[in-house]
Amino acid sequence: MNAPVTAPVDTAPDWARVRSDFPLLLRQVHGKPLIYFDNANTGQKPMQVIAATDEFYRRQNANVSRAVHALGTEATEVYEGARDKLARFLNVRADELVLCSGTTFAINLVAYSWALPRLKAGDVILVSRMEHHANIVPWQLVAERTGAKIRVAEIHPDGTLDLDALRAAMTPEVKLLALAHVSNVLGTVNPVRDICREARKRGIVTVIDGSQAAPHRRVDVAAIGCDFYAITGHKMCGPTGTGALWGRREHLQAMPPFLGGGEMIKEVSFDGTVFNDPPHKFEAGTPNIAGFIGLGAAVDYLESVGLAHIEAREGKLLAHFTEELQRIEGLRIFGTAPDKAAVVSFLIEGAHAHDLATLLDLEGVAVRSGQHCAHPLLQFYGVAATCRASLAFYNTHEEIERFIVALRKVRQLLG
Ligand code: PLP
Repeated sequence: MNAPVTAPVDTAPDWARVRSDFPLLLRQVHGKPLIYFDNANTGQKPMQVIAATDEFYRRQNANVSRAVHALGTEATEVYEGARDKLARFLNVRADELVLCSGTTFAINLVAYSWALPRLKAGDVILVSRMEHHANIVPWQLVAERTGAKIRVAEIHPDGTLDLDALRAAMTPEVKLLALAHVSNVLGTVNPVRDICREARKRGIVTVIDGSQAAPHRRVDVAAIGCDFYAITGHKMCGPTGTGALWGRREHLQAMPPFLGGGEMIKEVSFDGTVFNDPPHKFEAGTPNIAGFIGLGAAVDYLESVGLAHIEAREGKLLAHFTEELQRIEGLRIFGTAPDKAAVVSFLIEGAHAHDLATLLDLEGVAVRSGQHCAHPLLQFYGVAATCRASLAFYNTHEEIERFIVALRKVRQLLG
């Protein structure tokens, strides 16, 4: 009999090798090696993703779900294969996953297709103070047209949700709760599973914005128990213009189409049109085929690195980064939640965020400055703008050290 096979030890990846998968990170900017700390804005792409889209255009380019020729069949297979990969990644059914251009589209789809036909005067849409505009403005548009009201769930100064206030705000008029899984400004990770359980008990439909969660930790949508979950591909190593909306089957079946055109129909005549089944009912026109094939490759890539390793690595980078930043006199960090993704918004006394970001750029450092598509959140803190440094697993401790040197230099320049 053979000796029992020892289970392979799940060792952490070789991070230097992982980093070498990202060609853009070799760039120089203003004659300095690039330090890319703008990952909450968009993530960089590994060679595997670039190669997958390149390969599609070189060898398989054809439209999907239309032609019976070999290329058409292959293109449809790889495109639908990407949907399957993404569904496994999120632990949802593929036929409940609508492929779309990103979170903005995904949330608007829920707003126009689920909320607009259902809400009426007297209903309430509950959103949190820390939402991205993509999870505020569509609801305002719905409210304007239906007479529903927007209610805001407030936060504590440390950037955590006020959970007691949130619970108290879930009154019978609330029909929908729209909430970020992870804040793009503060990094706060919201306890979405508990919140969705509370909402469900009260018959409130939940829309979770997973844009900043899916790239950084294992997201088990089924376990979260929401009604809708939105992601955007370009923040998770995938191409721009890709994303998805997961929705409970009963919602997707009941919702009217958002856009009309090819692909989303079964039969069209001038007497009427029979729509396709979900998710295709919501995918009118030729999709971003190469983009989704790239997103499928991005999912494979993240799985090969390992979501648990990514989360642990980013946690260590965040701890190091925060410790170094806190040594800088006059530096204020916005968002100090105990469960926090590697996003750090900060200001330095006497320096404007845009000046900091502009001078950091001259040092080869990419950070974002401004309001981060979250005006109401910055209004809460009473500031016009912050500087935001957001890290990913391919960043290094050495980059953090160099960032701190650059920041100290910039601070001196600004007096
Ligand atoms: N929600 C959050 C929390 C985000 O960070 C972003 C992107 O910045 C979005 C929504 C919008 O994503 P997209 O522009 O890819 O649709």
